[in-house]
Amino acid sequence: MIRIHKPKIAPKKLTTDGKQKCKSHCDAYSLNPSAYETNKEKFDFASSIYAHESVKELLIKAQHQKCCFCERIIGKNGDVEHFRPKGAYQQAQGEPLKYPAYYWLAYKWENLYLSCSSCNSRHKKNLFPLQDPSKRATNHNQRITKESPLFIDCGKENPEEFIGFRAEYAYAINGNPRGQITIDYLDLNSDDLIESRRQRLNILRELNKVLLSVTEHPQDQEIQRLANELKVILKEYLLDSAEFVAAARCAINAKFQESDLI
Ligand SMILES: [Zn+2]
Repeated sequence: MIRIHKPKIAPKKLTTDGKQKCKSHCDAYSLNPSAYETNKEKFDFASSIYAHESVKELLIKAQHQKCCFCERIIGKNGDVEHFRPKGAYQQAQGEPLKYPAYYWLAYKWENLYLSCSSCNSRHKKNLFPLQDPSKRATNHNQRITKESPLFIDCGKENPEEFIGFRAEYAYAINGNPRGQITIDYLDLNSDDLIESRRQRLNILRELNKVLLSVTEHPQDQEIQRLANELKVILKEYLLDSAEFVAAARCAINAKFQESDLI
């Protein structure tokens, strides 16, 4: 995970149709709260608004076509993910679903990201654990500012301060519980992610080795020219737009030594 910088101004679809739809959800809840709390009534969330093309386009650009959680390249195939779930929520895995969830944030720009279907539909789903669940905002009259979410919000904080990598394996820096819960609940050490990161880091490691070896030939202009080209390629692996860049940065910072610790 890396920090995501979304444009400050929300897409118009959210501030017009989304705002109106949000009001209709809030009005419906106020008329009959218990019906929504027992899930007898359900909100008619409009994916045509929160996942509108204009919303997706801005997210794809801001996130460099990557999943906000696992950093897989997903291009246009990502789902619009609600950081605070809209329909139902769970404090922890295995607990029963609770209703309603954060229906009033269904069209809120700050609450939307793009994620891969594995992170969104298989792992995060309705999970939204809080440090103190008694502080949870359970309807639109309550404030989310009292909440301390355990998931790292990549639009507001830097995930690289919470989650590091030893070679291809994610770990919670200094054992911080928020990093650990994010890794565990989103399965950031799944077999396929580890394998994808491993392949990526292998290329980077070899590139780095070649670069180090060319310093032995400072007089050879052709070798130096090739070395400069390699440096450009290596830099691209460390840009925000690169797949699994958080792991790549950790590997470079650790001079590829940490793989010896595993
Ligand atoms: Zn993902």
